[in-house]
Amino acid sequence: MNPKETLTEVYGNYVGNQRKTASSQATFDDEDPARKGSVLASFQASSPRDITDAVDAAAEAFLHWRRTPVDERQHLGSRFVQLVRQRQEDLAVIVSRENGKTLREARAEVQSAVTEGTYHVYQASRFVGHTLPAGTQGCTGWVQYHPVGVVGVISPWNFPVNVMCRKTLPALMTGNTVVFKPATFTPWSAIFMAQLFEEAGFPAGVFNCITGLGSSVGNALVDDPRVRAISFTGSTDVGKKIQERVARNLTRTQLELGGKNALVVMHDADLNAAVDAAMTAGFACAGQWCTSTSRILLQKQIHDRFLDMLAARCERMIVGDPLDENITMGPVAGPDQYESICTAIHRAKAEGARLVTGGAATGELGERGYFIRPTVFADVSPEMSIFREEIFGPVLAISPVDSLDQALRLANESRYALSSAIFTRDIDAAHKYIGEIDAGLAHVNIHTGFKLPALPFGGWKESGFGLPENGQTGLEFFVDRKAVYIKSSA
Ligand code: NAP
Ligand code: MG
Repeated sequence: MNPKETLTEVYGNYVGNQRKTASSQATFDDEDPARKGSVLASFQASSPRDITDAVDAAAEAFLHWRRTPVDERQHLGSRFVQLVRQRQEDLAVIVSRENGKTLREARAEVQSAVTEGTYHVYQASRFVGHTLPAGTQGCTGWVQYHPVGVVGVISPWNFPVNVMCRKTLPALMTGNTVVFKPATFTPWSAIFMAQLFEEAGFPAGVFNCITGLGSSVGNALVDDPRVRAISFTGSTDVGKKIQERVARNLTRTQLELGGKNALVVMHDADLNAAVDAAMTAGFACAGQWCTSTSRILLQKQIHDRFLDMLAARCERMIVGDPLDENITMGPVAGPDQYESICTAIHRAKAEGARLVTGGAATGELGERGYFIRPTVFADVSPEMSIFREEIFGPVLAISPVDSLDQALRLANESRYALSSAIFTRDIDAAHKYIGEIDAGLAHVNIHTGFKLPALPFGGWKESGFGLPENGQTGLEFFVDRKAVYIKSSA
C-alpha cells in the first residue's frame, strides 16, 4: 500500500495472524481531518462477538507464549521495533493523514515509539524478582513474576503508534498476549502495526487487533473475564467507566487519563526559553498531547512581555495541510474534537476571558478541514471553565500570579495532576516547586511534554490510576507475583 495515495481499501481485523471481517459485516471510514468528508480507508465495525474471538485466540496463544524464553520474546520484540524504524516514513504519513499532526510531528512520534520500544525490549531481561537473605526461617524464598494472561490495550487517537507500543511491548515481553482496540479516529496505523507484528514473526494469537467503537468492542474487551489486565489511555470520563466495569471481575487497570497541565513562569526566567516551551507544549500536535501545556501562570513582572512574545509567535505559525513540510500546525483530529474545542473557546469568551489571538480558522482553510489557529486567552481566573476543564486543543489560558506560593496553589487547584513545569533561575524556587506541585511529572526549565522511557509516566488524582507506564512499573503492571518458599531436608 502507498499511504500517500488516497485509498478506499477495506482493512480487516487481525486475529490469530489472519485478516478477519467483523461479524456485523459492517465497516466504518477513516477521515483525513485536513479534508472534511474524505475517506482514507474503511475498517471493520466490530461487535462484541469479534472481541470474544480475539480473546479466544489470545488465550490459546498464551499457553505457549508464557513458556517462550524471554530471549526469544526479546528477539521478536526487537525485530518488530526494527520494522517500525524501517517503515518510519510510511507510518508517519499514515499518522499524519489519519490524525492530522504534521509529518514532522508524526516522524517524531514514530521515533519516540522506537526509542521507548527499544528500552522496553531491553528492560525485559533485567526485570528480576528478589531473593530472601539466605537461611531466613530455615528456607530459601524468592519472588517470581508471572504474566497475567490476556491483556486488553485500548488507545486514544493522539499518539496512535507510540501509546500502543508503550503498552503492548512490555505486555508481550513479560509473556502476556494482547488484544488491541485502537481509537476509531486512527485505525489505519493500528492495522499497519498489526502487520508488522506478523512480519516480525510473532506466533499467531500473541497480538490481535480489533477495530470498532469503544462503546461496543471497548466495553466487551473490558467485560471479558479472561482479560486479566486493561491498559487504557484516554479521557478521564471513559477511564472512570472502565474502572466501574472492571470491578465485576477484579481486572487490574492502568489508566492514563486527562490533564490540565500548568506552566509557571517566574520573573527571573529565561523568557525566550519559556516562550519556546509554551509554543512546543501548547501547540505541538495542535495541543493534543495529554501532557500539553494548557494553563500558564505568569509572575506579574514579566506578564505583559511574555504575552506579547507568545502572541507574536502564534501569529507566525503556519496552519495548514499536515503533509506540507512548511506548515507548523495541522488540523485537530476530527469533527468531535473540533466542535468541543470551538465550544470551549465560545465559553471562555462568554465567561470574560480575553482572546489575545487565534480561534477557529476561517475562509478556505476553515471550509476544507478541522483547523483551529493557535489560541491564547489572557485574564483567565480560576473559576472559569477554561482554567478547569481539559480542552485538548491548541488553546492556552493565561493567568497572572504574585508569587510562587500563589502559582502553586492555583496550579494544584485542579482535579487533574498529570504534568507541570516551572521556568526559573532560582534553585530554591525550583526545589519548592518540585516538592509541592501535584503532578506525576515535574519539569524545571523544560516543557511539560518532555519524558524519558526510564522514568514512570502517569498522572495523580483524576489523571491516572494504577501503576504508571514506562520505567520499572511499565513492566510490573503486567505481572503477578508469586512468593516461593523452599525448605531443603538437608
Ligand atoms: P477517549 O474518548 O477516552 O477514548 C480513548 C479510547 O477508549 C478509544 O479507543 C475509545 O474508542 C475507547 N473507548 C471509548 N469508550 C469506551 C468504553 N466505554 N469502554 C472502553 N473503551 C472505550 O479519549 P480520546 O478522545 O481518544 O483521547 C483524548 C483523551 O486522552 C484526552 O483526555 C487526553 O488527555 C487523554 N490522553 C491521556 C494520555 C496519558 O498518558 N495520560 C495520553 C494521551 C491521551 P473510540 O475511539 O471508538 O471512542
Ligand atoms: Mg481519522
